[in-house]
Amino acid sequence: MDLYEHQARELFEEHGIVVPRAEVTDSPERAREIARALGGRVVVKAQVKTGGRGKAGGVRLAADPAEAEQAARRILGMDIKGHTVGTVMLAEPCDIGREFYVSYVLDRASGGFLAIASAEGGTEIEEVAARRPEAVARIPVDPVAGVHTATAVRIADAAGLPPQTVDTLVRLWKVLVREDALLVEVNPLVRTVEGRIVALDGKVTLDDNARFRRSRWGDEKPASDSLEARAGAKGLNYVKLDGEVGVIGNGAGLVMSTLDVVAGCGARPANFLDIGGGASARVMADGLSVVLSDPDVKSVLVNVFGGITACDAVADGIVRALDEVRPTKPLVVRLDGNNAARGRALLDARAHPLVEQATTMDGAARRAARLATAAPTAG
Ligand code: GDP
Ligand code: MN
Repeated sequence: MDLYEHQARELFEEHGIVVPRAEVTDSPERAREIARALGGRVVVKAQVKTGGRGKAGGVRLAADPAEAEQAARRILGMDIKGHTVGTVMLAEPCDIGREFYVSYVLDRASGGFLAIASAEGGTEIEEVAARRPEAVARIPVDPVAGVHTATAVRIADAAGLPPQTVDTLVRLWKVLVREDALLVEVNPLVRTVEGRIVALDGKVTLDDNARFRRSRWGDEKPASDSLEARAGAKGLNYVKLDGEVGVIGNGAGLVMSTLDVVAGCGARPANFLDIGGGASARVMADGLSVVLSDPDVKSVLVNVFGGITACDAVADGIVRALDEVRPTKPLVVRLDGNNAARGRALLDARAHPLVEQATTMDGAARRAARLATAAPTAG
């Protein structure tokens, strides 16, 4: 689970990292009062769980409380990369001397963590990383040893950060460990013109596997009625992607390779949806209804290799979903493995005009890709 900037800011503050004074609201009138309490000049910042807010116009400097109210009015309700702004944070502004980038992130490949740091932080960090990777230091962190002063000094040295950042680097590691985070990122970490080190922005991703010992952020339900929120509410493993072929399968590995095969056929997957092992008809019906309600989806590929999941249960789910959601988009279904023959027979018996079956994964992907990319015929 990602935290909002203001939640990350709160965690940083609790661990002794210097952050600007700030407060959150969903009301422009209240924004004016907060600005007054903070001394008049403030930065008004959209609270959305995505980066690039500055470039999208979601971060504005206001010279006085009236401007803060106006800025809040403009930012609230704004859409930033598909996230609607519901709250803004008003923060005391900093006079920035330099902007740095620092983060710790889980590195699954090495089974450890990585410290990533750069003396060229700020909104252009991605361009810096792409064009001049040598300007971004990547230092492995042993998860057991952690980051104490000596390691923090090495990180700062490697990235060209001033020695005053060492304390922040040590504290940031404590945030990661104590809060069960997979990622903590500060961009920008600034040195103000007065020489103070301040975390001006924060991103924290918590490990959902540690949720049981972290009631603090609650079981926050996403406020939006996005597809991901709907899928989440039904307990589905769903990730929205950019393409047009809806993909449903059982097992994360199979679904991942299905995404690749779809891409190999010249189409783009619209989502990842893993109905899991032992998936019931109910899960299949829920999954199909989420995928079919995605307006970007032009065709759906159901790829199931029955192991624990019996293909007839999957087929039963598809038949149920057909009655519930009345699809207007074609489905290609490939069933193989446990009870495949009974599953196929169930679908044959239903004989839905929009459902066709394929015997191989490649064949199914080719067909679904074709259905999604073929120009619609006239009439
Ligand atoms: P992001 O675009 O979502 O990463 O939002 P940030 O919080 O990082 O803000 C984007 C940029 O706005 C920062 O890189 C800063 O350059 C600028 N900014 C943010 N807060 C302040 C501030 O207090 N003072 C000044 N001068 N600039 C700020
Ligand atoms: Mn930022």
